[in-house]
Amino acid sequence: MDNISYGFELAKKNFRRGQGAWLILTVCLCAACAFCGCGKESAVRHSLADTAMGTLVNLTFYSGDLSEEELRELEDSLLEEIRGKERELLSWREETSEVFRVQQEMGPGGAFVSEELFELLRECRKVEEDSDGAFSPALGALTRLWNMDGQALLPSEETRVPSEEEIRAALGHCGPDHMKLTEGRLFLEEGTFLDLGAVGKGYMLDRIRKELSEKASASGKSLWGVASLGGSVLTYGEKPDGTPWKVAVADPEEPGETIGYLELKGSWCVSTSGDYERFFEKDGVRYHHILDPSTGYPAKSGLRSVTILSESGFLSDALSTACFVLGQERGTKLAEKYGAGILTVDEGGEISCNEKMEGVFRLWRQDE
Ligand code: AMP
Ligand code: MG
Repeated sequence: MDNISYGFELAKKNFRRGQGAWLILTVCLCAACAFCGCGKESAVRHSLADTAMGTLVNLTFYSGDLSEEELRELEDSLLEEIRGKERELLSWREETSEVFRVQQEMGPGGAFVSEELFELLRECRKVEEDSDGAFSPALGALTRLWNMDGQALLPSEETRVPSEEEIRAALGHCGPDHMKLTEGRLFLEEGTFLDLGAVGKGYMLDRIRKELSEKASASGKSLWGVASLGGSVLTYGEKPDGTPWKVAVADPEEPGETIGYLELKGSWCVSTSGDYERFFEKDGVRYHHILDPSTGYPAKSGLRSVTILSESGFLSDALSTACFVLGQERGTKLAEKYGAGILTVDEGGEISCNEKMEGVFRLWRQDE
């Protein structure tokens, strides 16, 4: 196999030495953090930090010819677009969203869906098929049962592990056999619900990249920067001084720290899925938010985190979840099928990269 492995202890020890040398833009809740530099003395910079899609959003852009005010307006409009897509398309909780509405309108013949949702679901189906069902957009019955978002906020004595019966019942409404997509219509069996939580942030990164390139080409203005949505990061454009973007990878053992970083030139998407992002503990067992559709329980693939590098935000996000469930070996095969880079951290702290990732990943070392 093309993988390389590093000793995790070494990574952690060395990170602490190099830590002070870098500016971390996003905070510890993010699985991956982006580092950037202006790279041009006359360039203007503007940064926005807020919340949307239930996570932290950080937008930091630079321009050689837009004003700071114009950058601020651009970031405000992108934040509004992220919130708008959640509210109008992606959320299964908000009554205003298409995902919510389509479930209400579901009849025996299915329901018509917008071209946008149809296309997004079609892409999800492809990853579902290629991952042998490790990733599924129709896992809502199970994710609602576990309610990780809610349980993560409760004190341990109030959390509840669903019974095997409940899990079996929910699984009976999950996965590819309970959902059909044909000619602009979606069909969901009764009791089957969509959950696009594994792809929404990556999908939004693709939208942001499109907006940025339209803005840049329409005005002929230079624009470069970084957008991070929770565990998904977009690097956009080239820095004028030619130096690479640096996107840090969180340490699953101590998520406020990082194990190293990716050095990237140009526009890329990086997503991390980890068992430390949302979880609750009961009787000394950690129950995290990435569920294995073959068991109905949090995935136990031997991994603590998966980081995917792809030109597509949708793919980086979908694959990070799918590969976490599949484990190191099968996950690497899936990532390579899509031409993506993959970095895994396993339960023993071992870090592995495929060739594409090896070319850009820098482990914190003593000499840095
Ligand atoms: P991520 O953090 O991108 O890995 O996405 C995790 C979120 O996706 C969870 O909070 C659930 O809403 C949903 N999810 C959990 N397990 C799966 C799975 N196996 N396939 C698809 N979505 C999932
Ligand atoms: Mg994901």
